Amino acid sequence: MIAALMPTYNRADLAFERGEGAWLWTNDGRRFLDFGAGIATSSLGHAHPHLVRAIAEQAGKVMHVSNLYRIPGAEKLAQRLVNASFADSVFFCNSGAEANEGMIKMIRKAQAESGHSERYRIICFHGGFHGRTLATLAATGNEKYLKGFGPVVPGFDHVPLNNLNALRDAIAPETAGVIVEPIQGEGGIRAATPEFLRGLRAACDEFGLIFGIDEVQTGVGRTGTLFAHEQSGITPDVMSLAKGLGGGFPIGAVLAREFVAKHLVAGTHGTTFGGNPLACAAANAVLDVTLAEGFLDHVRDISAYLRAGLTRLTAEFPTILADLRGRGLLIGLGLHIPQADFAAALLAEGVLSVNAGDNVVRLLPPLIATRADCDAGLELIHQAVTKLAVRS
Ligand SMILES: *Cc1c(COP(=O)(O)O)cnc(C)c1O
Repeated sequence: MIAALMPTYNRADLAFERGEGAWLWTNDGRRFLDFGAGIATSSLGHAHPHLVRAIAEQAGKVMHVSNLYRIPGAEKLAQRLVNASFADSVFFCNSGAEANEGMIKMIRKAQAESGHSERYRIICFHGGFHGRTLATLAATGNEKYLKGFGPVVPGFDHVPLNNLNALRDAIAPETAGVIVEPIQGEGGIRAATPEFLRGLRAACDEFGLIFGIDEVQTGVGRTGTLFAHEQSGITPDVMSLAKGLGGGFPIGAVLAREFVAKHLVAGTHGTTFGGNPLACAAANAVLDVTLAEGFLDHVRDISAYLRAGLTRLTAEFPTILADLRGRGLLIGLGLHIPQADFAAALLAEGVLSVNAGDNVVRLLPPLIATRADCDAGLELIHQAVTKLAVRS
């Protein structure tokens, strides 16, 4: 008989009851180091006092009013995101897929309203991931996820990442824009090179295309800068955020330059929940921490420390570990052994990780992780790999 909770996930047989910082405890008292952060989402770790207080206080006042009224917390959050980015205006929603849907609609609408209704196609990249709604699945383009769900939403073309010739060849009179992840997360921590992103920007300018960037996983400090694209020196025209933005509370956002955003006038797009007072209180609390003086320096410092340890580990166990990928606290370990074996070995030592494509295991510590957390993690991972090496 089917479980009451629909079995769309192969869940580990663990139920966490509480957490503190980078650590989680199960209902039977076992402790785990959370180097998955709920898939790069629990950016402030667990039970962060400032986030907890902000949510509790807002919940005690008003959680939801709908977008039929002004929401001061949303106005404040939007202004802070505008001040900290290339964008002029922000739309709030509830998830990464919904943010990408909004981004796709904005790209198409901006082209249509500026006299190019023939331009509706969007170029995306092999190995990318943009969500599970029908349009974001089409943008993702992964056959495995599309199978059985009927006709694929039209309007998406796919080319290899980091290949400017293939990108330029794919541009057609119907092309409206591109959507790229600065570092592919689900795809295996595969980075778009800075040269490729700059070439992409140049191609968009040359052909009048809108440059969309999916920072659902890379955004809000995860890679050591507030947004990952900052490190390549380009600015996109529109960007999606979600995962880390609410520190575990669901919220997504589409940030856009004025020439893109201005076409989504009243009545063209909407959401009941998006940007409600509770979600915005959570995201504002996350920004209080993330934008505080020195916090991103901390992320870069912790990242360098952890990566140095993982580099030593990779050198010590070359038959198990193939390479070290990613930036900041978006870390991938390329493997020579099956991913499932490696993740199980980490779990047996009490370390949570997240699988990715390309036979990679992701380590995504909360951004507030300390050196002591990293020391604990490195020791536990070392034990796990040592046992794997003995077995193989
Ligand atoms: C997780 C993810 C999404 C989808 O986000 P959901 O909140 O699961 O809908 C989209 N894009 C990227 C890059 C992601 O990592």
